[in-house]
Amino acid sequence: MEILYKSTRSNTPPVSASKAILTGLAPDGGLYVPSRIPALPKTLLELSALSYQDLAYEIMSLYFTDFTEDELRACINRAYDDKFDTRKIAPVVKKDGVYFLELFHGPTIAFKDMALSILPHLLVISAAKNNADKRIVILTATSGDTGKAAMAGFADVPGTRIAVFFPDGGVSNIQRLQMVTQRGDNTHVAAINGNFDDAQTAVKNIFSDKALAAEAGRKGFRFSSANSINIGRLVPQIVYYVYAYCQLLAAGEIDECAPINITVPTGNFGNILAAWYASLMGLPVHKLICASNENKVLYDFFDTGVYDRERPFILTSSPSMDILISSNLERLIYHLTGDSPMRTKAFMESLSENGQYEISQAMKEGLSDFCGVFVTEEENFEGIRRLYNGTGYVIDPHTGIAFSAYRKYLEESADDTPTIIASTASPFKFAEAVVGAIAPDAVEGKSDFELIDYLSDLADIDEPYAITDIRTAPIRHKTLVDPEDMPDDVRSFLGI
Ligand SMILES: *Cc1c(COP(=O)(O)O)cnc(C)c1O
Repeated sequence: MEILYKSTRSNTPPVSASKAILTGLAPDGGLYVPSRIPALPKTLLELSALSYQDLAYEIMSLYFTDFTEDELRACINRAYDDKFDTRKIAPVVKKDGVYFLELFHGPTIAFKDMALSILPHLLVISAAKNNADKRIVILTATSGDTGKAAMAGFADVPGTRIAVFFPDGGVSNIQRLQMVTQRGDNTHVAAINGNFDDAQTAVKNIFSDKALAAEAGRKGFRFSSANSINIGRLVPQIVYYVYAYCQLLAAGEIDECAPINITVPTGNFGNILAAWYASLMGLPVHKLICASNENKVLYDFFDTGVYDRERPFILTSSPSMDILISSNLERLIYHLTGDSPMRTKAFMESLSENGQYEISQAMKEGLSDFCGVFVTEEENFEGIRRLYNGTGYVIDPHTGIAFSAYRKYLEESADDTPTIIASTASPFKFAEAVVGAIAPDAVEGKSDFELIDYLSDLADIDEPYAITDIRTAPIRHKTLVDPEDMPDDVRSFLGI
C-alpha cells in the first residue's frame, strides 16, 4: 500500500517518498512524516534469518513505496557493501551485561555512515522519478563529522557533486585529514576563514540565492542538502534496530517478542526517532532511553514538558551531541499532537520566537515510551574507564554517554529488561578523549597518531582502515576561502 509524506507544519497535499527525499524540507519549513506507520512485514523470527541487505529491503520498501524492487535493491546493494568492514554491517556485541549495537563499521567510522551511504543513491533515483534531470549538487557546512560522512557517501556517485566547507582551525586534526584527503572527482572541500556559524550562514545564503540557483540551473545543476531531517536518512536508520533485535533472537539471548530497551546517545533526535518508529512498527521495545550530555535540553524536556533552548552552549567531549535545537524532535511533537500541523507549527514558532515551548499534560503522557537521562563529563569518563577495566572493551565518548545514562537508569529503575546501546562512533575517532578517560597520564606529549597507536594496544584491536588510510593518503583539497567568496568557489567547482 502506498505511503505518502505530509508536512508537520501545514495541510498541503502529501507527496510521494521520492519527492520527499528530493525536497528534504517541506516548502512550508516543516518536516516530512509518513502518513501512516507500516507494521513489520513478517514475524521477528522470520526476519532474523535475513541478511542486513535483505532486511533493509523488507523495511525500506514499506516506506519508499514509489521505488521499484530493482531500484531499491540497487540502492541497498551499493550502500551496504564492502565499504563496511564487516559483513554484518551493524554487529551486536555483549559486554558488561548490555548489548552494544556497533554502528561504526562504515567508511568514516561513525553512525552517520549508516544513512549517508544510501542517501545519495536514493536521491539520484528520486530525481529521475520526478523528472528532475539536473545533476544534484550537495552543499554542506560541517563542524567535522557530517561533512565527511556525506562526502564518503556521495564520492563517485554518478549524477552528483558535493562541496563541503569546514571552519579552518575549527575541526580536529584527524577530522581535517579525513576531509582533505577525500577521493572522488565529484568532491570539493574548502576550509573557511571563519567559524562553523560563518560557514553555515554562507551555505544558507547560497541556498537562498535565486540568481545563483538559476545560473546553476542553466548549466544543468540543482542544489540540495544531505540534512539529517531528510526522510531518506531517517528510514534507513530504522533497519538496524530491527536487525539488532533479530541478532539477539538468533543468538538465543532473548525469546521472540520479549521486550528490550534501547539507549541512544542523542543530539538531533534522528537516531532515537528511528528507534521509536521501529517500536511503532511492532518491534517489542519497553523503554527508549534518551541519553544527553551536559547540553541536557532533551532531559529537561522529558522531565518538565518545557523545551527551552535559551541556555549556555557547552563544549563537551561528545561534540556530535552538543546541540540545543534537536530538529527531529519536531516529528515526535507532531505525532504527540495527534498529527496536528497547526499545533506543531505553533510550537515551532514559539521556539524560534521565544526560545521555548511547553507541551500539554496530555502530550506529556504520550512521552511514556521515553526516559531522558543526562551524563556529566566526569561520569562519562568514569563509565568508559569502568567498562574498560571490567571487560577490556573500549567505547567512544558518545557511546560513553549512552552507557553511563543506562547505568544511571538501571540504578533508579531496577528495570532489568535486556538493553541495546547504540554505539555511534569508533573510539579511534576520539582517541585523545578515550585515552584521557582510561589512562589520563598517558595523553601528554603524544601526537594524534601516537594516541591512536596507544589506543590500539590498550584495546588490543587493529586500527580501522579509515585511520590507516589518512596516515599516508595524499592531500587533495587545499582551498582556503573567505565566507563571502564561497559562491565563487562553488561556481569554479561546477565550472560555471
Ligand atoms: C550525530 C551523532 C550523534 C547524534 O545523533 P542524532 O541522530 O543527531 O541524535 C551521536 N553520536 C555520534 C558519534 C554522532 O555522529
